[in-house]
Amino acid sequence: MRLILLGPPGAGKGTQALRLVGKYGIVQLSTGDMLRAAVRTGTPVGRQTQEIMARGGLVPDNVVVGIVGQRIDEPDARKGFILDGFPRTVPQAAALDRLLETKGLGLDGVIELRVDEDALMRRIESRVAEMKARGETLREDDSPEVLHNRLRAYREQTAPLIAYYRQKGLLRTVNGMAPIADVTAAIDKLLPADRPLGGSAAGKKKSEELSP
Ligand code: ADP
Repeated sequence: MRLILLGPPGAGKGTQALRLVGKYGIVQLSTGDMLRAAVRTGTPVGRQTQEIMARGGLVPDNVVVGIVGQRIDEPDARKGFILDGFPRTVPQAAALDRLLETKGLGLDGVIELRVDEDALMRRIESRVAEMKARGETLREDDSPEVLHNRLRAYREQTAPLIAYYRQKGLLRTVNGMAPIADVTAAIDKLLPADRPLGGSAAGKKKSEELSP
């Protein structure tokens, strides 16, 4: 199974991705996590992207397309994957289409977590406050100003992907404002029946049987 989770920062993509990982035995590929790891270890990609990420901008398409292309070739991604944070622009989506096509693979669906922007700001502010209270290290880009830039990048560059995938008949929208368990249940409901690669009982099969 190959899925994309689409939604603005704070929409709950990471939380839902982890649940899907557990359920379907596929890997979560978060470009944000990959880029943060590159920054931490000081790779050339990390050095190139650190400043862009710190101010909430998007790193160049060729950079992320390159790292995703390499990552999906690794053995653990063979059974399937959930892309979290990628694609984030229409050119990235087109590059992903080409990448999958050359491998003879397809996407099973794109799940949009739809959320209200004011609520998002509050959600992220309270997540930051809770992390601070627990003495955890905050992400460099979790400040209100940077968050504003991240939301703008989403609106301007990522939101067009909703129409892109709707046109391809792949888009499934879920209300991301609902409690976490309800969002999970809503995703569960649409996945098995809507999967082009499986029949209506696909959700009941073991994860090994889900891959083509
Ligand atoms: P968010 O919580 O904002 O969704 P992520 O962890 O997905 O954050 O990404 C953090 C930052 O990493 C982004 O603000 C951006 O700078 C960079 N980034 C991650 N994925 C991409 C991508 N697909 N294209 C461009 N930049 C990306």
